[in-house]
Amino acid sequence: MERTLSIIKPDATRRSITGKINSMIEEAGLCIIAQKRILLSELEAEEFYGVHKERPFFRDLVKFITSGPVVVQVLEAENAISLYRKTMGATNPKEAEVGTIREAHAESIEANSVHGSDSAENAIKEINFFFEEKEIVG
Ligand code: ATP
Ligand code: MG
Repeated sequence: MERTLSIIKPDATRRSITGKINSMIEEAGLCIIAQKRILLSELEAEEFYGVHKERPFFRDLVKFITSGPVVVQVLEAENAISLYRKTMGATNPKEAEVGTIREAHAESIEANSVHGSDSAENAIKEINFFFEEKEIVG
Protein backbone atom coordinates (compact mmCIF):
# COMPACT_ATOMS: atom_id res chain seq x y z
CA MET A 1 0.00 0.00 0.00
CA GLU A 2 1.15 3.53 -0.80
CA ARG A 3 0.02 6.96 0.37
CA THR A 4 -0.12 10.28 -1.46
CA LEU A 5 -1.09 13.83 -0.51
CA SER A 6 -4.01 15.45 -2.30
CA ILE A 7 -5.18 19.06 -2.12
CA ILE A 8 -8.57 20.16 -3.39
CA LYS A 9 -7.73 23.74 -4.36
CA PRO A 10 -9.67 27.00 -3.73
CA ASP A 11 -11.26 27.10 -7.21
CA ALA A 12 -12.99 23.82 -6.33
CA THR A 13 -14.00 24.62 -2.73
CA ARG A 14 -15.42 27.94 -4.00
CA ARG A 15 -17.67 26.07 -6.45
CA SER A 16 -18.70 23.43 -3.83
CA ILE A 17 -17.46 20.52 -5.93
CA THR A 18 -15.34 18.79 -3.28
CA GLY A 19 -17.96 16.02 -3.09
CA LYS A 20 -17.85 15.47 -6.85
CA ILE A 21 -14.04 15.34 -6.75
CA ASN A 22 -14.11 12.92 -3.80
CA SER A 23 -16.43 10.66 -5.81
CA MET A 24 -13.94 10.61 -8.69
CA ILE A 25 -11.12 9.84 -6.24
CA GLU A 26 -13.03 6.94 -4.68
CA GLU A 27 -14.24 5.60 -8.03
CA ALA A 28 -10.58 5.47 -9.13
CA GLY A 29 -9.91 3.07 -6.23
CA LEU A 30 -8.19 5.55 -3.91
CA CYS A 31 -9.22 5.45 -0.26
CA ILE A 32 -9.47 8.82 1.57
CA ILE A 33 -7.80 7.95 4.90
CA ALA A 34 -7.45 11.53 6.23
CA GLN A 35 -9.08 14.81 5.29
CA LYS A 36 -9.40 18.37 6.62
CA ARG A 37 -10.48 21.78 5.35
CA ILE A 38 -7.97 24.52 6.12
CA LEU A 39 -6.91 28.01 5.06
CA LEU A 40 -3.21 28.14 4.14
CA SER A 41 -1.20 31.12 5.35
CA GLU A 42 1.11 32.89 2.90
CA LEU A 43 4.13 31.45 4.73
CA GLU A 44 2.78 27.89 4.59
CA ALA A 45 1.99 28.25 0.88
CA GLU A 46 5.49 29.59 0.15
CA GLU A 47 7.01 26.66 2.02
CA PHE A 48 4.73 24.07 0.42
CA TYR A 49 5.43 25.34 -3.12
CA GLY A 50 9.12 26.07 -2.34
CA VAL A 51 10.31 24.00 -5.34
CA HIS A 52 8.60 26.50 -7.63
CA LYS A 53 10.01 29.68 -6.07
CA GLU A 54 12.12 30.58 -9.13
CA ARG A 55 9.22 30.02 -11.54
CA PRO A 56 7.54 33.14 -13.03
CA PHE A 57 4.12 32.07 -11.75
CA PHE A 58 5.23 31.57 -8.10
CA ARG A 59 3.68 34.76 -6.60
CA ASP A 60 0.38 34.15 -8.42
CA LEU A 61 0.38 30.52 -7.29
CA VAL A 62 0.83 31.53 -3.62
CA LYS A 63 -1.92 34.14 -4.01
CA PHE A 64 -4.27 31.59 -5.59
CA ILE A 65 -3.70 28.75 -3.11
CA THR A 66 -4.30 31.15 -0.16
CA SER A 67 -7.37 32.76 -1.78
CA GLY A 68 -9.83 30.42 -0.08
CA PRO A 69 -10.17 27.16 1.83
CA VAL A 70 -8.43 24.01 0.61
CA VAL A 71 -9.18 20.40 1.53
CA VAL A 72 -6.01 18.45 2.27
CA GLN A 73 -6.25 14.68 2.10
CA VAL A 74 -4.20 11.53 2.42
CA LEU A 75 -5.11 8.94 -0.22
CA GLU A 76 -4.15 5.29 -0.02
CA ALA A 77 -4.00 2.58 -2.67
CA GLU A 78 -1.52 0.32 -4.39
CA ASN A 79 0.58 2.75 -6.46
CA ALA A 80 -1.45 5.67 -5.02
CA ILE A 81 0.99 8.32 -6.30
CA SER A 82 0.85 7.40 -9.98
CA LEU A 83 -2.81 6.34 -9.78
CA TYR A 84 -3.81 9.75 -8.41
CA ARG A 85 -1.66 11.65 -10.95
CA LYS A 86 -3.50 9.70 -13.67
CA THR A 87 -6.87 10.41 -12.06
CA MET A 88 -6.07 14.16 -11.84
CA GLY A 89 -5.00 14.56 -15.48
CA ALA A 90 -2.44 16.94 -16.97
CA THR A 91 -1.53 20.23 -15.21
CA ASN A 92 -3.08 22.18 -18.09
CA PRO A 93 -6.76 21.13 -18.32
CA LYS A 94 -6.67 21.67 -22.09
CA GLU A 95 -4.25 18.75 -22.23
CA ALA A 96 -6.01 16.59 -19.64
CA GLU A 97 -7.49 13.28 -20.77
CA VAL A 98 -11.27 12.85 -20.86
CA GLY A 99 -12.59 11.47 -17.58
CA THR A 100 -9.88 13.04 -15.42
CA ILE A 101 -10.62 15.47 -12.57
CA ARG A 102 -8.88 18.37 -14.28
CA GLU A 103 -10.59 17.73 -17.62
CA ALA A 104 -13.96 17.69 -15.86
CA HIS A 105 -13.47 20.51 -13.36
CA ALA A 106 -10.32 22.66 -13.73
CA GLU A 107 -10.76 26.30 -14.75
CA SER A 108 -7.20 26.99 -15.98
CA ILE A 109 -3.57 25.86 -15.73
CA GLU A 110 -3.36 27.70 -12.39
CA ALA A 111 -6.85 27.07 -11.00
CA ASN A 112 -6.63 23.37 -11.78
CA SER A 113 -8.73 22.06 -8.85
CA VAL A 114 -6.35 19.47 -7.38
CA HIS A 115 -2.77 18.77 -6.34
CA GLY A 116 -1.15 15.35 -6.01
CA SER A 117 2.34 14.41 -4.83
CA ASP A 118 4.72 13.62 -7.68
CA SER A 119 7.13 11.15 -6.01
CA ALA A 120 7.39 8.81 -3.03
CA GLU A 121 9.82 11.18 -1.32
CA ASN A 122 7.57 14.21 -1.81
CA ALA A 123 4.47 12.27 -0.74
CA ILE A 124 6.02 11.57 2.67
CA LYS A 125 7.21 15.18 3.04
CA GLU A 126 3.84 16.62 2.01
CA ILE A 127 1.80 14.26 4.22
CA ASN A 128 4.00 15.18 7.20
CA PHE A 129 3.59 18.87 6.33
CA PHE A 130 -0.17 18.70 6.95
CA PHE A 131 -0.93 15.66 9.12
CA GLU A 132 0.09 13.96 12.33
CA GLU A 133 0.13 10.16 12.19
CA LYS A 134 -2.83 9.94 14.63
CA GLU A 135 -5.00 11.93 12.17
CA ILE A 136 -4.48 9.29 9.47
CA VAL A 137 -6.75 6.27 9.77
CA GLY A 138 -5.86 3.69 7.14
P1 ATP B 1 0.42 20.05 -8.54
O1 ATP B 1 1.82 20.19 -8.01
O2 ATP B 1 -0.50 21.16 -8.05
O3 ATP B 1 -0.13 18.68 -8.33
P2 ATP B 1 1.44 19.62 -11.14
O4 ATP B 1 2.42 18.73 -10.47
O5 ATP B 1 0.59 19.05 -12.24
O6 ATP B 1 0.43 20.25 -10.10
P3 ATP B 1 3.49 21.64 -11.16
O7 ATP B 1 4.40 21.79 -12.31
O8 ATP B 1 3.99 20.99 -9.91
O9 ATP B 1 2.16 20.90 -11.69
O10 ATP B 1 2.93 23.09 -10.81
C1 ATP B 1 2.32 23.34 -9.55
C2 ATP B 1 1.11 24.21 -9.75
O11 ATP B 1 1.53 25.49 -10.22
C3 ATP B 1 0.12 23.72 -10.80
O12 ATP B 1 -0.79 22.78 -10.36
C4 ATP B 1 -0.57 25.00 -11.18
O13 ATP B 1 -1.56 25.34 -10.20
C5 ATP B 1 0.57 26.00 -11.12
N1 ATP B 1 1.21 26.17 -12.43
C6 ATP B 1 2.02 25.30 -13.07
N2 ATP B 1 2.42 25.78 -14.26
C7 ATP B 1 1.84 27.00 -14.37
C8 ATP B 1 1.86 28.02 -15.36
N3 ATP B 1 2.56 27.88 -16.49
N4 ATP B 1 1.14 29.14 -15.13
C9 ATP B 1 0.43 29.30 -13.99
N5 ATP B 1 0.38 28.38 -13.00
C10 ATP B 1 1.06 27.25 -13.19
MG1 MG C 1 3.58 19.34 -8.74
